[in-house]
Amino acid sequence: MFSYRHAFHAGNHADVLKHTVLIATLTHLLEKDAALTVVDTHAGAGLYRLDGDYADTSGEAAEGLLRLIAAKPKDGAPLADAIARYLGVIADFNPKGGAKVYPGSPFIIQHLLRDHDRLKLYELHPTDAKTLDANIAQLDAGRQIAVLREDGFLSASKFLPPPSRRALVLMDPSYEIKSDYGRVLEFAAEALKRFATGTYAVWYPIIPRPEAHDLPRRLKTMATKAGKSWLHATLTVKSSKLTSTPTGETKRPGLPASGMFLINPPFTLKPQLAAALPQLAELLAQDRHAAFSLDSGG
Ligand code: SAM
Repeated sequence: MFSYRHAFHAGNHADVLKHTVLIATLTHLLEKDAALTVVDTHAGAGLYRLDGDYADTSGEAAEGLLRLIAAKPKDGAPLADAIARYLGVIADFNPKGGAKVYPGSPFIIQHLLRDHDRLKLYELHPTDAKTLDANIAQLDAGRQIAVLREDGFLSASKFLPPPSRRALVLMDPSYEIKSDYGRVLEFAAEALKRFATGTYAVWYPIIPRPEAHDLPRRLKTMATKAGKSWLHATLTVKSSKLTSTPTGETKRPGLPASGMFLINPPFTLKPQLAAALPQLAELLAQDRHAAFSLDSGG
């Protein structure tokens, strides 16, 4: 069984990028009245406490969400719409101010959906699946949300196309096992075959591993061959080089960067991210290697 628990990482810079893109995408898709189905193939526990043991141990939110809340763009410019919207959603979960509670993708999505939209959540880790179930049960959302303790890669594509014929599919595996990279590609290929007009969003870590570099390249080839539009956004907050401690030990830098790759993105996403990414790179920079990229095609 996997050891990855999202509670250690909730609210880190990767979540900031992923959830900013998720909210901007959903906001556009929800402008149409027609029902939308959202599928979250790797849901996690749904809600996290940033003042709890897990988050305290890793302190990752301090370099992500908490830094963003405290920061102001240098040139005095207002925050880009997409960032303001992301912070607005976080604030909705923390009505007394601050950020004690962090909503994971299931709660962010549910918060934005309307009554006639649907949400399907897949989570395999027994503890996180149980927590997710309990968290979702509190919403009393009835048939709007289905929580499935199943392999999202195996089960979710069978559900496509959804009855609504409009869908956003978020793929956010932990990449704890190398095969996750290949499984994302297989899933995306199968999903596109079944439902070519769906919007697909993949988060991935940018780490020194060939599979991580190949993934966006191969997704781009897949989208292009299928005649679909795509968008690729990355955010780097620090150097990926190993560093030495004063005692001469080698230290890993932790996750330095991550990316989001979308197939059939909303046309509004690129201008939204063109304004948001430079600010995120500036405000979340941990060293001079902080950077962003934004590319699209199709
Ligand atoms: N999407 C969540 C968010 O943004 O709040 C975070 C998800 S976390 C990065 C990845 C989750 O996928 C973990 O909770 C892990 O237990 C779960 N997982 C791993 N492999 C899975 C699989 N094949 N199917 C469903 N869930 C899986």
